[in-house]
Amino acid sequence: MQAMVLNSQASELIWTELPDRLPDAHEIRISISACGVCRTDLHVLDGELPDIKYPIIPGHEIVGHIDMLGAAVKDFHAGQRVGVPWLGHTCGVCMFCKSQQENLCDHPSFTGYTRDGGFATSVIADARFVFALPEGRSDVATAPLLCAGLIGWRSLEMVGDGQRLGIYGFGAAGHIVAQIAKFQKRSVFAFTRPGDSAGQDFAKSVGVDWAGDSDQTPPEMLDGAIIYAPVGDLVPLALRAVRKGGRVVCAGIHMSDIPRFPYRILWEERSLRSVANLTRADGLKFFSVLPAMDITTHTRTYALRDANQALADLRNGEFSGAAVLVPD
Ligand SMILES: [Zn+2]
Ligand SMILES: [Zn+2]
Repeated sequence: MQAMVLNSQASELIWTELPDRLPDAHEIRISISACGVCRTDLHVLDGELPDIKYPIIPGHEIVGHIDMLGAAVKDFHAGQRVGVPWLGHTCGVCMFCKSQQENLCDHPSFTGYTRDGGFATSVIADARFVFALPEGRSDVATAPLLCAGLIGWRSLEMVGDGQRLGIYGFGAAGHIVAQIAKFQKRSVFAFTRPGDSAGQDFAKSVGVDWAGDSDQTPPEMLDGAIIYAPVGDLVPLALRAVRKGGRVVCAGIHMSDIPRFPYRILWEERSLRSVANLTRADGLKFFSVLPAMDITTHTRTYALRDANQALADLRNGEFSGAAVLVPD
């Protein structure tokens, strides 16, 4: 197999030839056809997440076909199209695993962070955390759903069912969640970096009701807001934009520091929370309701060898939607 490997913090990924591995009893080996690039990959690259063990293969939005099954795997068959998400394994015995909160497991492993991921031609995954995928979408169009879609879905459930939804940071997750919210007949307000007219035009093109700068006041008070950009300054801005009792959800794994803000913008039962990871139940629900929703993922495709370029373009906001790597 070949992979783009991260050997040390803040270095370039290196194209590397690696021996093929065999799956253990509960694992499957997947021949990768597409892997999305997520902002979390930048946090891995930059060493902003704790305890990264090098070398590591990033990538946690994997779509491919099974080419080998471990002896104990019963739920999948060779050749089946599957998706591998960020949650790679949980312990199954901690208080979180035992209370339907496996996303908070004390001893988890995460694809592309603590176990090798999908910037490669092949990956080994724990079959118990892999999803069968609905048909109707290409592998490239499906890949961003494995994190941007799934975490987006979880954050949308966390923000509640209010009619007027704000989305701060309109990238891979934002453009998918906006379409889900429109399908649910909500009003969607998209906030981008100040002056990012291309980003605002993109948001309008996927159907939002209003798009503007993140420091602007929306035309109506919001019932809830989700922050996808890793920018702590957005927290007080979003709190000021939501009504009494409104919710603000921070959906990223890493964020710059939140500046001091006056208590009165949290007062009146506004709430602020984060969303961490996903549960398998999130994924099963998301992929079961997905076929009924008319969602188009906007992607820019890169060759696997060009992963460094894709990451740089994500960092610099060079494309709208999601980047997806495809092996040659
Ligand atoms: Zn991700
Ligand atoms: Zn656990």
